[in-house]
Amino acid sequence: MDTAAIYHRPESEYAFLYTNTRFRIRLRTRKNDIKKVYVLCGDPYTITTEKWYQKQRPMKKCLSTNVHDYWEIEVTSETSRLQYAFHVVGEDNTDCFYGDQGIFPYRENVITEPNFYFRIPYFHQIDRFTIPEWVKETVWYQIFPERFANGDKANDPEHTLPWGSKDPDREDFFGGDLQGVMDHLDYLTDLGINGIYFCPIFKATSNHKYDTIDYYEVDPAFGDKKLLKNLIDEAHKRGIRIMFDAVFNHMGVHSPQWQDVLKNGEKSIYKDWFHIRFFPVDSYQMTDLPETAENIPYDTFAFTPFMPKLNTANPEVQKYLLDIATYWIKEFDIDGWRLDVANEVDHHFWKKFREAVTEIKPDIYILGEIWHSSQAWLQGDEFHAVMNYAFTDSIKDYFAKKKITASQMVSGMNHQQMLYRDQVNEGTFNLLDSHDTARILTLCQGNKELMKSVMAFMFLQKGSPCIYYGTEIGMTGEDDPDCRKCMIWEKEEQDLELFGFIKELVSLRKQLSKIISEGSTQWLIVNDRE
Ligand code: CA
Repeated sequence: MDTAAIYHRPESEYAFLYTNTRFRIRLRTRKNDIKKVYVLCGDPYTITTEKWYQKQRPMKKCLSTNVHDYWEIEVTSETSRLQYAFHVVGEDNTDCFYGDQGIFPYRENVITEPNFYFRIPYFHQIDRFTIPEWVKETVWYQIFPERFANGDKANDPEHTLPWGSKDPDREDFFGGDLQGVMDHLDYLTDLGINGIYFCPIFKATSNHKYDTIDYYEVDPAFGDKKLLKNLIDEAHKRGIRIMFDAVFNHMGVHSPQWQDVLKNGEKSIYKDWFHIRFFPVDSYQMTDLPETAENIPYDTFAFTPFMPKLNTANPEVQKYLLDIATYWIKEFDIDGWRLDVANEVDHHFWKKFREAVTEIKPDIYILGEIWHSSQAWLQGDEFHAVMNYAFTDSIKDYFAKKKITASQMVSGMNHQQMLYRDQVNEGTFNLLDSHDTARILTLCQGNKELMKSVMAFMFLQKGSPCIYYGTEIGMTGEDDPDCRKCMIWEKEEQDLELFGFIKELVSLRKQLSKIISEGSTQWLIVNDRE
């Protein structure tokens, strides 16, 4: 038996309250090394009187990766307290006791020692990870507003190109707006989606609007607040929830705060709103970009001098951003916030963010943009979910890119699932393409039948699936900006057969959402032969 591979950690994804009363315990062991695992558990105060360690409860092997097996059991406790340890039996018929002090021979003097047991001192409901119930039944639709539909030519920015007249370059404008979304709510209702994730709509310079100038204004090229309010009300009437994109990691250089820093330098009242390394701070032009990051005197998003990073540890910045976060909920009744570059903002800020937004809307959905392991943000006091690229990458790598085998895909998916509590997996945000990636039909090299398989497979996984605008009618595109082409509205240009398939998939998913989110997956056969 490889005892070095045996792992558990209390108060984590290995030991968590699932419902009010049901507590789930996981154990990790080396793959194919362990025959059986039992849990010995009971109330911490009754171990000597009730001798509950004499009762062994078998754990179930739930999932495996290429290197580990995961075992699981659900227990309850009438006293809301729990003490527990594991009896592990190897394929080689050796056995051991595993608890809070490590691994010991499974002997009477070990299993009767109270301090050798892991503890959950109390089942605190307030600390239990919960997600808004509606998320489990939601199929999202992501809209990149500049490219979805142009419903109002009067608000088109200067130099707007004719709709769909060319493949987009970084600086192009095509005139998409909120009226365009309003005009196509029937289309979205017909497709069956019940959540819209909007890329940023606040006032900004670029076509993608990730360089906010004013977080309190709708970009004039998209419409105004009255139209936005109508749009949200109309969507709500149709049972469609609305999620906005919050770009809180950085601001645009045209924001009044940054402009003040440029003007007043060290004397600016906003100098501590950013991470400025030295003065003077230069104003950059697209034609005059610094050669290396070291030449930029302040921290930025990536190496983009047009996006100075905000200092979210500064209480003034915190208040400013939290007021924005609550304003759009109070005044516009939005249902979710997607947080851009969430991993580069500090945890202290996100904890405050969660408190502020859930206080006024307890079932708001908080979704972080994180592409890697995200346990630190998913403990129950920051986000409900992350954009689950790490999970769906395994699916894409197998089906579309053919980079990995079926068993490697299953291993990758299971590895991701075991990083999180079950509730996290049930409410996470699954996507195959977005404004930041190539479209799935393109990744499938135009093979529509393959794309259908990938979509169907993703829709049957835990988490709420998201369709990137236009993917449902067969739109293609490489990495951005190519994946941000104008939506095709001419019926004869749309793939209506594919639309019908996706529509059925959305409907099926909504019918099965409870089974999918709360059930469990068993991989019966994983065959690597082509
Ligand atoms: Ca327009």
